[in-house]
Amino acid sequence: MKERNSTAAISVKAPVIGLPRAMLYDRYEVLWKSFFSALGMKGIVSKPTNKAMIEAGSTLAIDEACLSTKIYLGHIQSLIGKCDYILVPRISNFGLHRNMCTKFESLYDVVCNVFRNTDQKFVAYNVDVLQKIDEEKAFVDLGTALGYDRKTAQKAYKRAKRNESEDWKKKVHEEEALYKSQSIKVLIVAHSYVLGDAYIGQPVIDYLKSMEVTPIRADVVDRKEALKQSAKVSKTLKWELSRELMGSIQMHRDKVDGLILLSAFPCGPDSMVNEMIIRKFTGLPILNIVLDNQDGTAGLETRLESFTDILKLKKGVL
Ligand code: SF4
Repeated sequence: MKERNSTAAISVKAPVIGLPRAMLYDRYEVLWKSFFSALGMKGIVSKPTNKAMIEAGSTLAIDEACLSTKIYLGHIQSLIGKCDYILVPRISNFGLHRNMCTKFESLYDVVCNVFRNTDQKFVAYNVDVLQKIDEEKAFVDLGTALGYDRKTAQKAYKRAKRNESEDWKKKVHEEEALYKSQSIKVLIVAHSYVLGDAYIGQPVIDYLKSMEVTPIRADVVDRKEALKQSAKVSKTLKWELSRELMGSIQMHRDKVDGLILLSAFPCGPDSMVNEMIIRKFTGLPILNIVLDNQDGTAGLETRLESFTDILKLKKGVL
């Protein structure tokens, strides 16, 4: 591919990159948008998850796939033909004992295979620190694969990283303020793509708020500190995102009235980690919810209502 710099790219025609609003989007939104914008590319994001996307993704995925993967495929489908490229990162690990769920390693290949009969181009960036490919190298490689020179890609990454860091500090600061609330506080322990999803996670947050409960996201945390704290609970837990959540519970256990564990069916890591949380954090009321692609929220609301009633009774406010 011919190399170009970002200015030249804009003056010809800015390439359009599609960002599926699922899986790691919630985590990397600022990094991705800033990086592509600094390169002079135009980003488009799929719409918030809706029923049609889940149905489409369920048809495309194998039955055993987790709900998050099905949702992701639904988002990819909604972007097909609307952009020059669709970003599907391949993230294996951030170092020793810092693995991602294997789904994040295979996603790019799964997507290319599922949509092999379309003309859509997919691009990945590969993070595999154990193979000496850190995030910066992965982004610079992605930039050069898109036709930019290494210096331009590196500059774009550094700027994106600064934006990401500032944005994350602000988000953590805002979430931390919620622990001071006088109302019943519930720490929701879920992957960002579950809790941040408009169709499966947002209804839980909305319902808790309607019950005058303050929901707090365990995933919005000082990640470095959370990883450190997670070692106090388990030294062998190897999934990065689960370790962040575990560390977040350890950091905030005394500031909340209860925990809600929210998982996508059938999540392998969560099935093990949630059991561990229930056994390690005894004394804290815990509600374990597994979300599937069934319609209707009546059953879910009943469980949330019963749980918040228990918390209110315990606190003497019911
Ligand atoms: S951690 Fe669970 S929900 Fe997330 S991708 Fe892996 S199996 Fe799916």
